[in-house]
Amino acid sequence: MSDYNSKTHQLVIIGGGPAAHTAAIYAARAELKPLLFEGFMAGGVVAGGQLTTTSEVENFPGFPKGISGPEMMLLLREQSMRFGTKVITETIDKANFSEQPFRLWREGNDKEILAHAIIIATGATAKKLDIEGGTTYWQKGISACAVCDGALPIFRNKELVVVGGGDSAAEEALFLTKYASKVYLVHRRDSLRSSQIMQKRILANPKINLCWNSEIVAVTGDGNLLSTVKIKNNKENKNSDINASGLFFAIGHLPNTDIFQNQLQLDSEGYIKVKSGSTHTNIDGVFACGDVQDKKYRQAITAAGTGCMAALDAEHWLAEANSHHV
Ligand code: FAD
Repeated sequence: MSDYNSKTHQLVIIGGGPAAHTAAIYAARAELKPLLFEGFMAGGVVAGGQLTTTSEVENFPGFPKGISGPEMMLLLREQSMRFGTKVITETIDKANFSEQPFRLWREGNDKEILAHAIIIATGATAKKLDIEGGTTYWQKGISACAVCDGALPIFRNKELVVVGGGDSAAEEALFLTKYASKVYLVHRRDSLRSSQIMQKRILANPKINLCWNSEIVAVTGDGNLLSTVKIKNNKENKNSDINASGLFFAIGHLPNTDIFQNQLQLDSEGYIKVKSGSTHTNIDGVFACGDVQDKKYRQAITAAGTGCMAALDAEHWLAEANSHHV
């Protein structure tokens, strides 16, 4: 039987994406013997995080030929284990940060896990539309990240569709105009929720075509690649087809913070609040990194960067706390 129930750990990391594993690599090399709960289908994704849902990662430095998302996550996991991180494929479903040591519980298990410091790296799940053909063409034309996938050859000089009405939809549409021959921005209302400045840029861009009062109904293709996006104008009750090679969901993200709602300060959208320029949350000894506290950059490299920060913040905090015999 494993002994991780019976003692108080220096550091527990919750999450299994690039933020969690980077934190683990730094913490393990600093001999904090981190315990990492990578989750079991937590937040709707397999252990390894959002990158396991993508094919090619071309923008992570150090991989000039690109690398597949799942392969990159296996390498990161291997690297954190190499330095002594104990990786456990279980989901944390309850936390109590009201006193030291902090307490965590796993799904389907009453025994508590005790820790002096916690790093939260549970990520944010990109929302997907439930449409006909959506599963078949996921990553075969459908994406949830224009910055990540927009430059792929399958989207170059092609007509693309972005769905959403907020700032991120506007940003994604503008970003895609660099590669696409035309971008259709499909929104179910008759005005965008994005800021004035974004709206102006959208309206002024000759490559962007706005489809108001419309929703995506289905996607079709040859089975391998998407070629048509079917939309419906709800006001005119009219269906039409767009001969597009790509469909980008820009309908928001859901931070995986349900279990921390009564434990930590979250913002109005549920992201964990951290002190500016650090990974400190409002509770001393609890740190947050990666997409769970970042609604702006949302990239593997920024998640990894803040994972490094969280490990260093935790290491300093533990050294200070230990010197005061906490
Ligand atoms: P995540 O990768 O989301 O990992 C969070 C992990 O925490 C998950 O494994 C989850 O299972 C686990 N977890 C959640 N809750 C719990 C819990 N209660 N207990 C235990 N574990 C839990 N970025 C790039 O830089 N380049 C790209 O090419 C790229 N392509 C992308 C393609 C797609 C389709 C998507 C959706 C995103 C892409 N991104 C890309 C963005 C990138 O994936 C994220 O920015 C990055 O994965 C965030 O890392 P993270 O560690 O913060 O969170």
